[in-house]
Amino acid sequence: MSQVIVGFPTTLTYYLHYPMWKVFFSELGCKVETSPMTNKKILDEGVKETVTDACVPIKLYHGHAVALKDKVDYLFIPRMVNVDSDKNITFCPKFLGLPDMIKASIPNLPKIISPSLDRKSGHYYLYKACREIGRQLEKPASLIFRAYRRAVSIQKKFEKIMVQNKLNPVEGIDYLFNSGSCSERPDADLNIAVLGYPYQIYDPYISANLMSWLENHKVRTWTMEMVDYSQLQKYSGKLKKKLFWHFSNKVVWACYHYLDQPHIDGIIHVTAFSCGPDAMVDKLVELECKQRNFPFLSLMIDEQTGEGGVTTRLEAFTDMIRYRREQQG
Ligand code: SF4
Repeated sequence: MSQVIVGFPTTLTYYLHYPMWKVFFSELGCKVETSPMTNKKILDEGVKETVTDACVPIKLYHGHAVALKDKVDYLFIPRMVNVDSDKNITFCPKFLGLPDMIKASIPNLPKIISPSLDRKSGHYYLYKACREIGRQLEKPASLIFRAYRRAVSIQKKFEKIMVQNKLNPVEGIDYLFNSGSCSERPDADLNIAVLGYPYQIYDPYISANLMSWLENHKVRTWTMEMVDYSQLQKYSGKLKKKLFWHFSNKVVWACYHYLDQPHIDGIIHVTAFSCGPDAMVDKLVELECKQRNFPFLSLMIDEQTGEGGVTTRLEAFTDMIRYRREQQG
């Protein structure tokens, strides 16, 4: 019998949970096929298949699903509901409805695996999701349990190596599955925290390569995945009320965290056009930086964003920080 192939789009939860699901499916005897990194064809397909008012990341997800659909037996699209200890924190409605949106928009799909990740369903929510997947793939309970244990263990390792070695998720995935080590950082004279959705920041195509541009221009980048979640949560009381959305809280807490780090010279917030949660988060982060007279740049990304526009703004921002530092002696 040939090996079952499970398709995993290289976007959205890829940057959050790929190691966990890769190990889980591999332990069940499946092959995990990822889509290519975003390119023009994937973006164009996504734009074509998605409702026009969707945000870029959701359009991209459609494009990645199209890129995989004829190559795999199953498409893996988890329904992200709640993964926080606070049961009121959830994901935006587009995440919640993603499996339904994909099914309704793209014809001739393979079978979909879409477990709900919902901590509200109890302490063993992740095991329940794994059991549901294992049953759909007709795997024995003992194998599912072993795969679940190994998946949880690699996910913890992934999160730990990002914090300990100050790696972003792409580097963390590379460390785990390819290199087994951290690559040398180029020399830097600036330290900038780059905050925002991982599926935008680490996608070189849609972010107009901003992370590489910064590293190539003597800027060391710091991101929210490099800080332990429990550290970030210490800032949860700073706002009168927590935000409703998982990523939005992480961005705001990471902003507070990096504002408290003396080595950080500036903050860049990368926002998505048409993103409801970001409209509020961007303002919160901007106001906090303004109050402290701290260098801040908001970069909005949409499918029309070109590399030239982004690099001009990055150049102006980094020049301004260096100039200000010189003036302050
Ligand atoms: S949080 Fe914003 S950018 Fe992310 S999927 Fe939802 S609407 Fe789109």
